[in-house]
Amino acid sequence: MTELYWFRSDLRLDDNPGLYFHAGAASLLCVYLWPPQVPWCNVNGIGVHRLRFLHETVAQLQQALRERGQDLLVVRGSPSQVLPRLVEQFGVARMGVASAPGVYEHRDTDHLARALDIPVTVHEGNTLFAAADIAALPGGLPAHYTPFRQLTATLEPLPAGPEARLPAPPPGLKVAAMTAPAIPPHPAFVARGGAAAGQRRLHQWMHRERAIDTYRDSRNQLEGLFSSSALSPWLANGSLSVRRVAHELRLHERLHGENPSTAHFYRELLWREFFHWRALRDGHRLFSAHGVVGKRRLTTFEPRNFARWCAGRTNYPLVNALMHQLVATGWMSNRGRQIAASCLVNELRLDWRCGAAFFEKHLLDYDVASNYGNWQYIAGVGADPRGGRHFNLHKQVALYDPDGAFTRRWEGACAPQPEFVVDAADWPIA
Ligand code: FAD
Repeated sequence: MTELYWFRSDLRLDDNPGLYFHAGAASLLCVYLWPPQVPWCNVNGIGVHRLRFLHETVAQLQQALRERGQDLLVVRGSPSQVLPRLVEQFGVARMGVASAPGVYEHRDTDHLARALDIPVTVHEGNTLFAAADIAALPGGLPAHYTPFRQLTATLEPLPAGPEARLPAPPPGLKVAAMTAPAIPPHPAFVARGGAAAGQRRLHQWMHRERAIDTYRDSRNQLEGLFSSSALSPWLANGSLSVRRVAHELRLHERLHGENPSTAHFYRELLWREFFHWRALRDGHRLFSAHGVVGKRRLTTFEPRNFARWCAGRTNYPLVNALMHQLVATGWMSNRGRQIAASCLVNELRLDWRCGAAFFEKHLLDYDVASNYGNWQYIAGVGADPRGGRHFNLHKQVALYDPDGAFTRRWEGACAPQPEFVVDAADWPIA
């Protein structure tokens, strides 16, 4: 009996319960569908580094499968068109895929489960806890992070599972070898795609350099090889398992003791977890201007201001520098993201979704739940109990770039920009 495993945001062989669920099949067809590029909020396409990272990741997954006698069929097209065709062509009797938090991904699996005449199983595996653990929280999933952290304090992350033998691909399968484009990463952020690079980074940051021990003090820096874990690009596309990260964290704590930095790092993994489960619950509201709380913000859309923010040509040199860093490298620190997002929302008074769409295009670690969840948080239409964050940009400069070195390195200086007048016809769109 041939079974099909559709890799989505779980691009790894380590700790992949969904994949190994199909280990008993007579043959297994492994498939990856290239994500569609849908224009949204005046933003088009995928940034060069995000695309490079994804190419490298998928090529490495294919190579790893080949070393185990398997293969990966990489196809362009929508799941509803491609997968039924493959099911018919290879006589597939059962299909599996890992769960994903986005509403469109959910719609795809629902549609396939209805349209295909075979069992379609959606496996868990990209989160610390199981859906049943979350459903069993007293009062269910909270709307805010702090109660979520408190309620999950007694839960231990699920263990990371080992690799298992995989069945051979179906007879007659012919697959071309994938090659990643020869684009080097920017020297300021040298992350390469693929599970092996993610594991190496985890080992280097946590165990070899023990940078985790100073994480609490360094995590707000705007750049630096060891200021934060920089694990998010691999966590986002699932080439690194979050359960593996939690397991290594516990190992580190057993060897060297728990400290405020290791505890803080775990709290950050819980932010990822919180946004994941919230996104599943919030569905389409994650993309609504009024957010999950349905708050009407007075906003207008001035395309020239948005273009300036994207190009790093605003009247805020630190924000300009951050935007240059993002486009050049595919990366921005958490503090940088908060500053750039607050500027778009509060200083330029633009629709937060346009900023989120631009981040989606460029961030190596783009993840629907964390990106849109964080943007809503800052815009005050999401999970922030204080109703949004307005960062004082002068104070942020004084705290995080006091000597201006970051702003100079990323060429944030820009001649003062003329004011635009927004007239009554533009105000408000909400
Ligand atoms: P570390 O500080 O080392 O934290 C460890 C891990 O915890 C991260 O890898 C990440 O998986 C998780 N994490 C940390 N902070 C957050 C957070 N605030 N929300 C959710 N998870 C968190 N993160 C993404 O993974 N993808 C996104 O698309 C994304 N978009 C963002 C947009 C905005 C406007 C903001 C303010 C934050 C966004 N974040 C996003 C969250 C955060 O900025 C990144 O996860 C973090 O900077 C990644 O760097 P790191 O791996 O060194 O994190």
